[in-house]
Amino acid sequence: MEKGIPELYGSLVFNDKVMRDKLPKDIYKALRKTIENNTHLELDVANSVAVAMKEWAVENGATHFTHWFQPMTGFTAEKHDSFISPVGNGQIIMDFSGKELVKGEPDASSFPSGGLRATFEARGYTAWDPTSPAFIKDGTLYIPTAFCSYSGEALDKKTPLLRSMETLSKEATKILNLLGQTDVTSVSTTIGPEQEYFLIDKDLYTQRKDLIFTGRTLLGAMPPKGQEMEDHYFGALKPRVAAYMHDLDMELWKLGIPAKTKHNEVAPSQHELAPIFDTANIAVDHNQLTMEIMKKVADKHGLVCLLHEKPFDGINGSGKHNNWSMITNTGVNLLDPGRTPAENIQFLIFLMAVIKAVDEYADLMRLSVASAGNDHRLGANEAPPAIVSIFLGDELTAVLDSIENDTFFGKHQRIQMETGATVLPHFFKDNTDRNRTSPFAFTGNKFEFRMLGSSISVAGPNIILNTAVAEALSQFYDELKDTPADGMEEAVHALVKRAILKHKKIIFNGNGYTDEWVEEAEKRGLYNLKSTPEALPCFIAKKNIKLFTEHKIFTESEIYSRYEILLENYCKTLHIEARTMQDMIRRDFLPALMEYTDEVTCSISGKKAVADLPCTAETKLLSKLSGYYEEIYLAEEKLEADTKTAEGLADMQEAANFYHETILADMDAIRKAADAAEEYLPDSILPYPNYEALLFSV
Ligand code: ADP
Ligand code: MG
Repeated sequence: MEKGIPELYGSLVFNDKVMRDKLPKDIYKALRKTIENNTHLELDVANSVAVAMKEWAVENGATHFTHWFQPMTGFTAEKHDSFISPVGNGQIIMDFSGKELVKGEPDASSFPSGGLRATFEARGYTAWDPTSPAFIKDGTLYIPTAFCSYSGEALDKKTPLLRSMETLSKEATKILNLLGQTDVTSVSTTIGPEQEYFLIDKDLYTQRKDLIFTGRTLLGAMPPKGQEMEDHYFGALKPRVAAYMHDLDMELWKLGIPAKTKHNEVAPSQHELAPIFDTANIAVDHNQLTMEIMKKVADKHGLVCLLHEKPFDGINGSGKHNNWSMITNTGVNLLDPGRTPAENIQFLIFLMAVIKAVDEYADLMRLSVASAGNDHRLGANEAPPAIVSIFLGDELTAVLDSIENDTFFGKHQRIQMETGATVLPHFFKDNTDRNRTSPFAFTGNKFEFRMLGSSISVAGPNIILNTAVAEALSQFYDELKDTPADGMEEAVHALVKRAILKHKKIIFNGNGYTDEWVEEAEKRGLYNLKSTPEALPCFIAKKNIKLFTEHKIFTESEIYSRYEILLENYCKTLHIEARTMQDMIRRDFLPALMEYTDEVTCSISGKKAVADLPCTAETKLLSKLSGYYEEIYLAEEKLEADTKTAEGLADMQEAANFYHETILADMDAIRKAADAAEEYLPDSILPYPNYEALLFSV
């Protein structure tokens, strides 16, 4: 029988309960202090922890350990070492030291560094992150670590995230103390990332080079039915999908990942999983693990989990909603408006800090979600537009309006829901309705950043949010710090009023999918960075370098290296896509089209030779097919030539622009013709499974 869920949950995690059971009391206390106050850990403590960790891991079947880290590839990396240690006479013991726990030295030369690390300095270090618990997976003890170069520059996503969390904690605590909350000593950021994905049949997947090499379909005509009936969203789970989701939950729960909600999404074969929120650092680690385990469990079920932002043309792609808030060590959610937000000056300051942060660093917010895959979604009327704006909802907008105009905002009236059926329970409506088109929406007691693509690490966007909000808070602190306690309420109102006037241009409660909004946003002077190559230079804009360096999130060289890596990543992705498309067109699609053209030609000449029958229809078809052949052939030749040109461009920004403007346009032209031609090809001739099979077979 399966273990009860409470016993199963976290059973493979070296969590607080295990630590308390396994560690000597003083060691446990020292470790807790490190975790809670970010203090330095002494080696003797590390040694004790290592012994306990190893014992626990070996008891649970582990033979190896690994320093698990998050290099700039966007994936996680691991190198496994066994616990075995020789003791002479061909004997071994299982051994693990504090030094091995605290520090690793992987060869860093093959990870992206954006020029930070010369190849002769291949050494990199991984350093244990005690704030994210170790866990066991596939017989190995996983130790979450940060990854840096020999000279101390961050080569990963965790280090700057931890830096940004500390900065935000410091600034938020300062202002809370100023407001009289003297028992607050730290503030954590919390994240709940909702993850979308597609599930398709593995046998079909392996027949498509585009899915294998690029994660998305580069060709494929829409079947007669797509998502227009809206029958998939929240629809009943099919048995194969339900079995997959069940196994996935079990695997995640064992690792202490609080998977909570699962449902079908809008597009056929599309689904979503949402966990219960956690501290940013842990939530980021958990989301990386979730994505990995989604793929692994799918494989066991003969399925493939697609995390690409746009696996299929013509239906919705996948995103990730990043729910974000701040919580004090005393347990107060700083974005909870309470019953009377207008009177809650603490809430108003933090709300205003977020509005100011998003307005002043909207370019960085956009940049933080920029990728070749996500470019297919943003602004395509299925995901938020590429323009960053904030949805506040009616009530908060009214609160801010009243402050701006010095009018009185009455107490909020809770509205009872009227369903018209007395048998149904009565409940109060939420303060905010939903606005699906907004990139950054206030949802009751948190903000939901909805521009993230489904495959990216959520570290990036949260680094930006934490840092930008910390900067806003720090400026507010400077404005308020000399105010006497009895004048604070008035001072905060005056501050909020000034800030609204300056930043209200970022607030937009309307429909983000309309052309009017694009025009209006331009009038307001908001950024509209439509593509990744357009967004990336924001990283090295003066104001942004200033933000990062002042708060010690990135050094200037770390910023430039990340900019390089992002550009390179974009170019490489499109290069692979272009080459895959060429391969499929030349070796699969055109030969199939030729085969069918031959069949039609044969049929015409046969009919003519035997009985001189009329062939008007076949001739029409023949001319259509050969017209497509011609068009696709020439378009492919152009793509081939342009890809060569792209390969020759040394300047990365120039190359990225070229890939965006020319290569993508070439690929679009090919796809348009090939998809039109596909509508005439018999299924038996198409050398790979079509959309109908991919989307409707699970
Ligand atoms: P939906 O967005 O579908 O309405 P919910 O409001 O239940 O769903 O929550 C969505 C996500 O937001 C969940 O992952 C949830 O844990 C997370 N969440 C809720 N409260 C917070 C918070 N204070 N900080 C961060 N995330 C939160
Ligand atoms: Mg949501």
